[in-house]
Amino acid sequence: MNARPKALLALSIACLLLAGIVAGCGGGGSSSSGSTSSDGKSAADAGETEDVKNEDSSGGEDAEAGERVVAGTVEAEWEKPHGEANMTGYELLKASETRSLAKSLATAFELPNPLLVKGVNGFGGGPFYNPEDNSITLPYEFPAVVFEVIMQSNPEETPEEWGEAAGAVNSFILAHEFAHALIHNFELPVLGREEDAADGISTVVLLKAEEGGLYAIDAAEFWEAFSGRQDPPDLAEYADNHSFDRQRADNILCWVAGSDEAVLEAFLEHEILPEDRLASCPGEWELLRRSAEQVLDPHLVNGANLEPAE
Ligand SMILES: [Zn+2]
Repeated sequence: MNARPKALLALSIACLLLAGIVAGCGGGGSSSSGSTSSDGKSAADAGETEDVKNEDSSGGEDAEAGERVVAGTVEAEWEKPHGEANMTGYELLKASETRSLAKSLATAFELPNPLLVKGVNGFGGGPFYNPEDNSITLPYEFPAVVFEVIMQSNPEETPEEWGEAAGAVNSFILAHEFAHALIHNFELPVLGREEDAADGISTVVLLKAEEGGLYAIDAAEFWEAFSGRQDPPDLAEYADNHSFDRQRADNILCWVAGSDEAVLEAFLEHEILPEDRLASCPGEWELLRRSAEQVLDPHLVNGANLEPAE
């Protein structure tokens, strides 16, 4: 399969007009989200969003590895990174403003339970959400691999561009894990595979955000580039609860195209997806968007909704 030209995707996504719902839906009002955890620890993380109350009692802009911080409805625990790969991944997560995004997401929705974000050494099975303790685990070596894959598949680009793309992918992946949190915290109906639903919800949420379409497209490009590991798929990959990387990429691209006619036309013209699939993308997107909004809007703070701004 040919790689899709990245510059082209960037160009086509520029057609998207994105409303700033993620950045803005918690803003403009005071959130009722407590910023003190049940064990009484005070907030110490920085307050990038105005709606997080009582935070930043220490005035610290950023928590360092090894510290535990609490802000809004998000707690973060970052292990001290050991070795080069873990340090690289930790720095990438930090540069991706993972904490800030996690907090924006968690305070945009009235999460009934504090969300714990854990940065850990190693790769493990990659990032995952655990409903047992309502936690998202981000192994440091995963973003390091993301960066490596992006670098190898886009050798003509600059380190800055690799970093930006890696940041976008990490943000999408965090939003995907957050989607699992939404499903479990609000006991959302999931009539299909949860992993596909999480990709769908994260795409819906991100497409409301400024630059969110770019994040989604960068994520799709990453899954496409990463899909070589499943060529050919082994039996465990057929049995896996995730769709194949390439399917995840194509689904994300289909939703983005379905959300915007100009993007759809650009994808059609440049054969980013087969014509037959693109024909069904507006309908697929509408079904996804409507379904996601129906179950998520009631949980947004301040009466905000997931409708795109006019
Ligand atoms: Zn998942």
